[in-house]
Amino acid sequence: MASVSLSKVVKSFGAIKVVHGVDLDIQDGEFVVLLGPSGCGKTTTLRMVAGLEDVSGGEIRIGGEVINDKAPKDRKIAMVFQNYALYPHMTVRQNMEFALKPQKLSRQAVDGKIADVAAMLGLEALLQRRPAQLSGGQRQRVAMGRAMVRTPEVFLFDEPLSNLDAKLRTQVRMEIAKLHKQLGTTVIYVTHDQVEAMTLADKIVIMKDGHIEQVGSPEEVFAHPKNVFVATFIGSPAMNLFHTKVEGTDAGPVLVSPSLRFAVPAEWAAKLRPGEGVTLGIRPSDIRLARPDEAGAIDARVEVVEYLGVEALVDLRVGAQEFIAQMPAGVRPHPDQTVRIAFDPAGLHLFNSQSGRAL
Ligand code: ATP
Repeated sequence: MASVSLSKVVKSFGAIKVVHGVDLDIQDGEFVVLLGPSGCGKTTTLRMVAGLEDVSGGEIRIGGEVINDKAPKDRKIAMVFQNYALYPHMTVRQNMEFALKPQKLSRQAVDGKIADVAAMLGLEALLQRRPAQLSGGQRQRVAMGRAMVRTPEVFLFDEPLSNLDAKLRTQVRMEIAKLHKQLGTTVIYVTHDQVEAMTLADKIVIMKDGHIEQVGSPEEVFAHPKNVFVATFIGSPAMNLFHTKVEGTDAGPVLVSPSLRFAVPAEWAAKLRPGEGVTLGIRPSDIRLARPDEAGAIDARVEVVEYLGVEALVDLRVGAQEFIAQMPAGVRPHPDQTVRIAFDPAGLHLFNSQSGRAL
């Protein structure tokens, strides 16, 4: 069993607390991504699981056993770092052998493990090279190979793709996904890249300022963000926000901003109190051109159109409110044109303006 659980985990550096009581349960075999902006505490949390940082409070369990005081080498984990941390004077084979040293295996067992991992990662032809003779992508694969030969129960990845160019990043990302499928080992993976998080994770943990904001599948955090932070952090371009006040009318509540009036679907009426501040969120992909004579459609002025091949990003303006729509490239409107736009109720998100929490 290689479940990992964090219970009220705290980390302070001197007087400064950077991880504030994190609770997290990771199942055996799960691929969990810690995602959040720079400085939110992802790496510190990962390093506490690895044993590279002391835990200031709370407990970390691997396979049910509290490991707070265990040395890193006794934790059955392997970590792949952003800078790969390969030994420059050793060949690829020696780098992998070195990782196996503590296990004191027979020559035959060591050779067998290296052969298996090299075959899995396509490293056979590179075993005699030194890191300086490898490309960035190859180095990254060696770093993974070195972690894999130890057959750990948990893999920890700290931004493993950030030193690769965009094309290689996509390729290695897919290799990591395939390896996880093949090996089924529990993975904790730190990144600030939401595309990596969305494509790799079974479960995404979104962090901010040392707190967990939401834990959920990629679909859950995208479709049902718990608050404005998660709503705007996940999804690119970011969700549009309209700051409104609830106005009671005979026909039900209406959300009113200086530039716009939104009639809300009847089923949401119970959530809204007249006078309350409500932030309305609409993803760019949920804004479309209105059908002729569609009720509730809005006139918007096209400011800028960015053509991206299959789609176009359209900057729109209504009064002082600017927002972005993501439309199929075929309906690309022209700058300065006025278009009638609409959104379907299923694509709307409501948040309390003060707390930022989803209603
Ligand atoms: P990034 O994406 O930039 O790596 P992160 O989310 O991984 O960010 P951490 O590296 O975990 O963030 O850092 C969390 C906070 O802890 C930051 O404010 C950082 O400055 C602080 N911090 C990290 N390591 C130390 C340290 N050794 N001493 C003091 N403060 C530290």
